[in-house]
Amino acid sequence: MSENNNESQKPANFISNIIQQDLDSNKHTAIQTRFPPEPNGYLHIGHAKSICINFGLAEDFGGKCNLRFDDTNPEKEDDEYVESIKEDVAWLGYRWSELCHASDYFEQLYDYAVELIKQGKAYVDSLDAKQMREYRGTLTEPGRESPDRNRSIEDNLDLFARMRAGEFEDGKYLLRAKIDMASPNINMRDPALYRIKKAHHQRTGDDWPIYPMYDYTHCISDAIENITHSLCTLEFEDHRPLYDWVLNQVQTPAHPQQIEFARLQLKYTITSKRKLNQLVTDKHVDSWDDPRMPTISGLRRRGYTPASIRDFCDRIGVTKKDSFIEMAVLENSIREDLNEIAPRVMGVLDPLKVTIENYPDGQTEDMQAQNHPQKPEMGTRTVPFSKTLYIERDDFMEDAPKKFFRLSQGREVRLRYAYYVTCTDVIKDDAGNVIELICTYDPESRGGSTPDGRKVKGTIHWVSAEHAVDARVNLYDRLFSHPNPAGTDDFIAHLNPESLITLENCKLEPSLATPDEDTRYQFERLGYFIKDKQSDKLTFNRTVTLRDAWAKIDKANA
Ligand code: ATP
Ligand code: MG
Repeated sequence: MSENNNESQKPANFISNIIQQDLDSNKHTAIQTRFPPEPNGYLHIGHAKSICINFGLAEDFGGKCNLRFDDTNPEKEDDEYVESIKEDVAWLGYRWSELCHASDYFEQLYDYAVELIKQGKAYVDSLDAKQMREYRGTLTEPGRESPDRNRSIEDNLDLFARMRAGEFEDGKYLLRAKIDMASPNINMRDPALYRIKKAHHQRTGDDWPIYPMYDYTHCISDAIENITHSLCTLEFEDHRPLYDWVLNQVQTPAHPQQIEFARLQLKYTITSKRKLNQLVTDKHVDSWDDPRMPTISGLRRRGYTPASIRDFCDRIGVTKKDSFIEMAVLENSIREDLNEIAPRVMGVLDPLKVTIENYPDGQTEDMQAQNHPQKPEMGTRTVPFSKTLYIERDDFMEDAPKKFFRLSQGREVRLRYAYYVTCTDVIKDDAGNVIELICTYDPESRGGSTPDGRKVKGTIHWVSAEHAVDARVNLYDRLFSHPNPAGTDDFIAHLNPESLITLENCKLEPSLATPDEDTRYQFERLGYFIKDKQSDKLTFNRTVTLRDAWAKIDKANA
């Protein structure tokens, strides 16, 4: 699964069917797609779907895909976002054919607007925002025509040139398309094409006091780049008539076909840059790449692999039907990938001291441990064993029920890759908390079995106290406790207070003293972990547990 997907494994979908027909009929000899983010935030898992569709289809059909920054709102956009978007697309494993910017086309967009004015298809309007709303009408009532609608072509050309020259204050005029104020589709009721905004642009500086609107910019940018299939999400379906209208009026080199698909919506999280931005700005999370965030950078820091995200996008498929995807689908993609590739190690998150009474003082043994029991080719390592160990606190229970197969007074368990031990005594502090276990070991059980063939039911993990590495571990849960936080009045109110639990006193086997930066490790019995690159103290982030703890809970609540 870490390999690139090969084309023949991918099921067809309605978009790949259209592309295949267009190639078969010679409508196109090659396809060209694009991924067109606005650089006003970090990319999230929803964008990953769009990236996989656009770049994936280009790859499957031997075509090309551009990365295009839709940078027409200078006040909300930033170079930090541009850089993060490039990093995320590349990390997912895709190479853009060309790196483009809508701002590359500002001059051409302006010329096309002049062309529209000359054809009597656009006019300069002086209605303000409030009046615009009043004139626009509603879904049930037609709109009204602006008094400026019949301004002469000469006057429109003059005013538009002066807008461009920076003569007017923000909001004084708009350039609008002249289409149909009575159209049942509100997007066709003389939509704005240009607005006055004296804002500094990260690429064009102060060259432009006017900026083109999204709908106008997008179709022309697609056409200039010879995009064959302009793939976008369903909310743009009602904008398609405008997309086609603009391209039908002006002489562009191509007329791409817009095709819409359903947005990815994931339960228990949000996929909206604006809301994610709020989480960062209001410090509900540490940063855009906080491992709880559904951003690509957050998932990367959490330990997700590019292959797992691409696999997830394949699994959810491409349809026109809006639906919510279970978080478990994403988690299963990463589990399956890591189950294959993650080396196994031992670490104790909540340590309980164990002293092996009959083990020689000062002795250390190197126990042979397999890096991946199902994959002998991944080799072995040694783990030191000694008289004082740590085990997981919840692997011990006083007065344990019969079915508890871990450690309890008088019961025997196997220490993974080491010996059988039996708990003989329990030491408590004044408050009655268990602080240490006294055990005996069977010297004949080295490696996990005894000459008498005695069976033990439980095997638990451990680390040697004197050799253990101290570490911090971050455990993550869903960011929200509501399945659709974006659908509530106040999504912030539904943040899960237990989305992050930090354990400061974890004890790990010594091989983890200098972990490989990019290796995801399976801590046996606990899940998959990756070193956090941004912490000074040795810190591991849990990517995902070994099993889906929520499946049971969801079932019980159903
Ligand atoms: P957001 O609402 O998060 O700000 P957006 O649509 O405004 O998202 P853009 O930067 O315009 O963000 O998105 C770039 C591309 O990614 C667009 O083509 C958009 O359709 C697509 N996209 C955005 N969100 C999703 C999603 N949840 N699922 C699939 N595609 C998405
Ligand atoms: Mg958008």
